[in-house]
Amino acid sequence: MKKIILFFVILLFQVSAFSEVKVVTTTTVIYDLVKQVGGDKVSVDYLCRGDQDPHFLEVLPSYMLKIRKADIMFEIGLGLELWAPQLIDGSRNSNLKLVDLSKGIDKKDIPAGKIDASQGDIHPYGNPHYWLDPNNVKVMAQEILDALSEQDPVNADYYNSNYDKFVKSLDEKMKQWESKMSKVKGKPVIFFHASWIYFAEHFAVKIAGYVEPKPGIPPTPSHNAEVINLIKKNNIKFIVMENFYSDNAPKQISSATGAKVIKVPVAVFGMDGINSYIDMMDYIVNKFSENI
Ligand SMILES: [Zn+2]
Repeated sequence: MKKIILFFVILLFQVSAFSEVKVVTTTTVIYDLVKQVGGDKVSVDYLCRGDQDPHFLEVLPSYMLKIRKADIMFEIGLGLELWAPQLIDGSRNSNLKLVDLSKGIDKKDIPAGKIDASQGDIHPYGNPHYWLDPNNVKVMAQEILDALSEQDPVNADYYNSNYDKFVKSLDEKMKQWESKMSKVKGKPVIFFHASWIYFAEHFAVKIAGYVEPKPGIPPTPSHNAEVINLIKKNNIKFIVMENFYSDNAPKQISSATGAKVIKVPVAVFGMDGINSYIDMMDYIVNKFSENI
């Protein structure tokens, strides 16, 4: 009898180990969401580190290997990962399911006319930085829930309850974030890169301008001068930048105006101690409310 039980235990273990869903994500924010929803039924890896600019990722064979082993790949979409198609081709994984998480997002900054790529604008299909609005993260988690449940219907209830738990904790956090951000409401802020429109609309922060003349175009002296004037005229308190950009121009602008430079992570693992989406938003919200 004992032997038979042991046999079934081993069999069950093997079946569950075999059926584990293998996921690769382009960014670490998606990685965290897959962990939250997938729990221990999913193995997940990511491509772009949290302290790297997700617009530009070197095409490495090790990334292709990660994709080769995956059942599902999740991406932000909207052209953020222009490097992804080459990696997917190189992975030669014909069974890969690619899920674009921007599907259900209310997209912003969609260009009215045709964008000339030679101008260097790296947001040609609209603004891809939608994960900085926590409401959009719920939409992303829902998309992940659907994809995991379709891939692994046996565990659909498990994924569902994980999703519910995550949304509940996010809702609680959102109340805290909104109350902390209430003093920043309507205040003008300068940002380095055009990645903050979703965040700014959610928390009613005013985007006064950007250090980059256009998304992906490095700062220029003449544009810096415009930003300096803007800060002086509107008594702007700080410049917010992702921590992977060079702070040369923000520092110059800061020394000419007295506005502070605030560096924040915009991805999970973007800084020591930032191990989840909630950690990241806590950090960002605290920086805004402490410096206004
Ligand atoms: Zn961008």
